[in-house]
Amino acid sequence: MINHDFKKKFGQNFISDKNLISAICDDAGVENDDEVLEIGAGAGSLTSVLNERAKKVVSYEIDKDLQSHLLGLELDKAKFVFGDIMDFSIENIEKDFSDNYKMIANLPYYITTPIIFKFLNGSNKIKSLTIMVQKEVAERIVASSGGKDYGVLSVMIKFFGQAKITRIVSRKMFFPQPNVDSAVVSIQIENKYPQIDKEKFYKFIQNVFAMRRKTLNNNLQQAGYDKEKIKLLGEETLKARAEIFGLEKLIEIYNAVK
Ligand code: SAH
Repeated sequence: MINHDFKKKFGQNFISDKNLISAICDDAGVENDDEVLEIGAGAGSLTSVLNERAKKVVSYEIDKDLQSHLLGLELDKAKFVFGDIMDFSIENIEKDFSDNYKMIANLPYYITTPIIFKFLNGSNKIKSLTIMVQKEVAERIVASSGGKDYGVLSVMIKFFGQAKITRIVSRKMFFPQPNVDSAVVSIQIENKYPQIDKEKFYKFIQNVFAMRRKTLNNNLQQAGYDKEKIKLLGEETLKARAEIFGLEKLIEIYNAVK
């Protein structure tokens, strides 16, 4: 392990286990003609394996204290960008990739969902996201309708593609050790609903889940959708909570009130 002053505020929990790093690359199906985006290089353990297995890897790292260590690795297929991933536009990030690319990351926990949404909503080139996240977030990502884990994140992931948990990872695999266990989630992006405006649909989903304990009717009224259109949904639907509806039904409701 490198001599480094670990920064909690950046979600620094590094992996050094070679088998685990390889397994994450396997979960992502990295081939030697793949271009890969990594977020959070850390000490570069994942970056080094990607450097061997992929065609190209572009890795972002916010912590400038890691710069000399990372550049010192002299990885021939890796490009490091030092800065906050959230400060870069998708357009700028994607300039480094010739076409489709895969994201692989052991994500900093404190901004997991903003990062996921940044790429889901903004990218046309991302093929898959294979990400290490807090186990509890992984469960929300793959949740089906009806349960407590089902919400905006689950619906939007289903809207954009298909997700599965590929492995559960004990907190003991990280240094420093976090307070929670993790899981690797693999999300395959499919452009299933090209005719739906993704920003408007995202807003709609946020609206119908805004007050989880309230009825669909309540949430739609609160968000200011057309009262006549809402009424046409029928009493049965309106008195339910959004959490019982699967993606297809939510799309139907969206199309009816938009
Ligand atoms: N990939 C490494 C490190 C994972 S820890 C490994 O698996 O061992 C998460 C890393 O993300 C840390 O190095 C942290 O400094 C970096 N990071 C945190 N916030 C970031 C941000 N907004 N933009 C880019 N990197 C970030």
